[in-house]
Amino acid sequence: MKGTIISVKDLWKKYGDFEAVKGISFDVREGEVFGLLGPNGAGKSTTLEIIETLRDKTSGTVIVDGFHLDKDPGEIKKIIGVQLQTSGYYPGLNLSELLELFGGLYNRRVRPADLLDAVNLRDKAKAKYKDLSGGQKQRFSIATTLINQPRIIFLDEPTTGLDPQARRNLWELIRNIRDKGATIIITTHYMEEAEVLCDRVAIVDAGKIIALDSPDKLIDKLVATGFERPKEVKKANLEDVFINLTGHALREQN
Ligand code: ADP
Ligand code: MG
Repeated sequence: MKGTIISVKDLWKKYGDFEAVKGISFDVREGEVFGLLGPNGAGKSTTLEIIETLRDKTSGTVIVDGFHLDKDPGEIKKIIGVQLQTSGYYPGLNLSELLELFGGLYNRRVRPADLLDAVNLRDKAKAKYKDLSGGQKQRFSIATTLINQPRIIFLDEPTTGLDPQARRNLWELIRNIRDKGATIIITTHYMEEAEVLCDRVAIVDAGKIIALDSPDKLIDKLVATGFERPKEVKKANLEDVFINLTGHALREQN
């Protein structure tokens, strides 16, 4: 088994009197897709942004690839990929130009064509961000996380608001990035997304982790308690019907 690349211990975040994160601890293993799964307001983004060095914590210990957040935030920044705010996507520039611009922020010469290739957007090099579909926008945003060839990539609800094909498309892309060796931390409130995409998940509720394991083991544990679904489990769900009727996941490529 690979080693721990992120270690979070007893992390707390208060906004004034409000405790958004209440003593969270977890480890992320190198090369896995780790999910923070929970409802809106659970504290997922806050936790992510603290590890990303973008938000101050109230207390707790965060170590990323051996670097302490308090002592070496600069070292952490060098090895992580963060989705850049869409407000930085200057409307006059095309995708290729935007990637070059962002490369400058990281002090890196980038090859826009390679980055666009990696997210299946090569034929959109001359397109403007605003003219992309929802799924293409998310894929471009993932391309921006790859600029500094990071070892760890943070994705905050990357599939929220996407249609089923675009979501599946993005899952495949995220798995491809993982298979090339990156570690990925993702937040989601979609259970089925966590089930298919994440190697392990932490279920977060009201600022606390209430369960942490692989989706498989969490399900097995539940079943072991004698739990049974009230209804017969069907071999397909409505999403399968939709995808079957509307064709393959190719629509998002256009
Ligand atoms: P999630 O990403 O799981 O939806 P967040 O981490 O965004 O949750 O937010 C957790 C809680 O902290 C929410 O109740 C939210 O309203 C609150 N919160 C987030 N950011 C701030 C802030 N800057 N000031 C005050 N409260 C905040
Ligand atoms: Mg959030």
